[in-house]
Amino acid sequence: MAAAAAPGEQSVIEWLGGQQGAMLDLLEELVNTDGGSYDKPGVDAVGAHIRAFLEGHDIACETIPNETFGDALRATVGGPSNSAIMLMGHRDTVFPKGEPTRRPFHIDDGKAYGPGVADMKAGLVMNAFVLAAFSKFGGAPGPLVGLFTSDEEIGSPSCRPIIEAEARRARAVFNSEPGRPSGNVVTGRKGGVFMKMEITGKAAHSGGNFTDGISAIEELARKITALHAITDLTRGTTVNVGLISGGQTVNTVAPWARCEIDLRYITSPDREAAMAKIERIVETANVPSTSATLEIAGEFRPLVESPDNKRLFEHYAACSRDLGRPVEGEFTGGCADSGFTSGVGTPTVCAVGPVGGKAHTPEEYLVVDSLVPRAQVLALAVARLT
Ligand SMILES: [Zn+2]
Repeated sequence: MAAAAAPGEQSVIEWLGGQQGAMLDLLEELVNTDGGSYDKPGVDAVGAHIRAFLEGHDIACETIPNETFGDALRATVGGPSNSAIMLMGHRDTVFPKGEPTRRPFHIDDGKAYGPGVADMKAGLVMNAFVLAAFSKFGGAPGPLVGLFTSDEEIGSPSCRPIIEAEARRARAVFNSEPGRPSGNVVTGRKGGVFMKMEITGKAAHSGGNFTDGISAIEELARKITALHAITDLTRGTTVNVGLISGGQTVNTVAPWARCEIDLRYITSPDREAAMAKIERIVETANVPSTSATLEIAGEFRPLVESPDNKRLFEHYAACSRDLGRPVEGEFTGGCADSGFTSGVGTPTVCAVGPVGGKAHTPEEYLVVDSLVPRAQVLALAVARLT
């Protein structure tokens, strides 16, 4: 270690150093507990495992209930305060029900596999152990709040207000999404808007009454090419129509059609510019007498590389260097809850979780040997956040 650790932080780091086996045990439990974003009982069961671990380490836990999605779980070390340090992570995964039965947790050649192993059950385990370490030995320069959310993979419809309220009370946020395959953390993320567009036309028999029909599918096709033309790769703005449906039968002029649209952007003015174009496309009928509506189904704020975020990253990177693991910040097009915490003005650094890759695929993996070091770096970054 380059800079000598103070006695409090030394105990925390040493204790974490001996926890890899226990971390893997908890990780196995979490990965083998099914919990897609819409599976409330599953996401709550993942929360129950985490809560049992935390309460076993005398950490106060509170459930913020939700009727539709999983409940949010909030753990506090050191009492309420307006200058808490927040450790954040989501418990839901993108996988369909039954995935852990088909592909249970296993380790092969230094890598762990299973649904959500890196994104982000390993990050949840890391946060839980860092909370436990400070609960055991003290040494945190302020209260720690662990927020374990339930619906990040679908844009955090239920947890966004909880995340934002918690972040407003915090002075720093560490989001434990998986570290990049390079070992780097994330200092910038695009914002994203998920939308649904509905087009209405008029049904008619395509043989007998063709000219009476108004084709919603033709209108959708024309709108899709216009939407995709908004993409400007040099600005980092992209529009993707990822889902389409429509029509009644092959021999009916289509009375309806719909699609789902994903807009990604880097800055807020870019969002406004792209949204104005999208709204114009929705309002303009290419096939006369069609009509269209647009609805925003979910939204992520961008993680902007602001001076405050940069300072927190530099603090984190210095701690990582002191533990012999140089780290850099990367930009990614993927969205995360860190955009919400940064959006309310709280310094945020993202992807401080254990290192992994191929998220959202069956090949998703976690580098087992990164569990302990990333926990130690996070703990040091917390301890030195004076
Ligand atoms: Zn994630």
